[in-house]
Amino acid sequence: MRRFTEKRLLVATHNAGKLSEMRALLAPYGVEVVGAAEAGLAEPVETEDNFVGNARIKARAAVTATGLPALADDSGISVDALDGAPGVYTADWAETGNGRDFGMAMQRTWDELEAKGAPAPRKAQFRCTLVLMWPDSHDEVFEGVLPGQVVWPPRGAEGHGYDPIFMPDGHDVTLGEMSAQMKNSLSHRAIAARKLIKGCFA
Ligand code: IMP
Repeated sequence: MRRFTEKRLLVATHNAGKLSEMRALLAPYGVEVVGAAEAGLAEPVETEDNFVGNARIKARAAVTATGLPALADDSGISVDALDGAPGVYTADWAETGNGRDFGMAMQRTWDELEAKGAPAPRKAQFRCTLVLMWPDSHDEVFEGVLPGQVVWPPRGAEGHGYDPIFMPDGHDVTLGEMSAQMKNSLSHRAIAARKLIKGCFA
């Protein structure tokens, strides 16, 4: 495992929430975090059919454009009874051609489960893959998996995306009903980030 000894790290996300989360996580290690928007990066097209492949596309595009080491993530929800769908297409299921509609995406998830007559519990996992890539193309990959089940109807106004229909194992509330602090302590992204810190920074 390669340790991170550089001073600056490009975090290849345009999502302000993910950026500030990473900045806070890396602050104790003296790393200056640069965001994709401040670096003027475009969002590359995600053409792979797996999370690692798509995270690598984002990391490689950022490294090539800036010459800095870069951290990229790809995430989504995989539903067992739907053979892992929507998976890497999690954001695509919300696409309307005029912005994203996660109400529609959650409805489709539930409708497909109903159509299949899938028995309860309707097991699913949120997955997050982080790729840390250096300018010489070496990379380290970290994965976080949050197991749980899909529930209906959607519950809670916190969080984003599919949070209101996902109830993590060991809890009786959805991610949409949890405070941001609670969710950020147990999420798939938090699990992957803890592995990244342990492997490359701590
Ligand atoms: P990405 O930005 O390509 O990784 O898109 C992943 C998609 O997965 C996002 O658009 C969200 O809809 C969904 N997703 C990822 N993580 C979460 C989460 O923690 N809660 C709800 N939805 C999520």
